[in-house]
Amino acid sequence: MYQVCIQRHFDAAHYLRNYGGKCENLHGHRWQIVVAVNVDELNETELAFDFTELKRVVDDVLIGFDHVCLNDTSPFDAINATSENIARVIYERVAAALPGVRVAHITAYESPDAWVTYSK
Ligand SMILES: [Zn+2]
Repeated sequence: MYQVCIQRHFDAAHYLRNYGGKCENLHGHRWQIVVAVNVDELNETELAFDFTELKRVVDDVLIGFDHVCLNDTSPFDAINATSENIARVIYERVAAALPGVRVAHITAYESPDAWVTYSK
């Protein structure tokens, strides 16, 4: 089995609701997003999955989160813009855009030393 991974990023502002600390204040992050897909067999080009295609699909998902205040953007106007929710929402959108592809996990780095990984 091959696990094909790419890393992309977006820059955004957010604030946490019901947190009780400084993260309730508006602030920003560069979220680094790692996407991993599992593939059993190579194709006729002997690729498990084309990096360029995976980057295109993920970029289409992330563009709506770049240079915005996440709290003003669906679904984070209704749910907290935590890295946990960000990882899950990106997972669901990438999986929906890649029917038949096994998305292994999404990791959302809020900073170089703090991240969340979501998988099903
Ligand atoms: Zn934050």
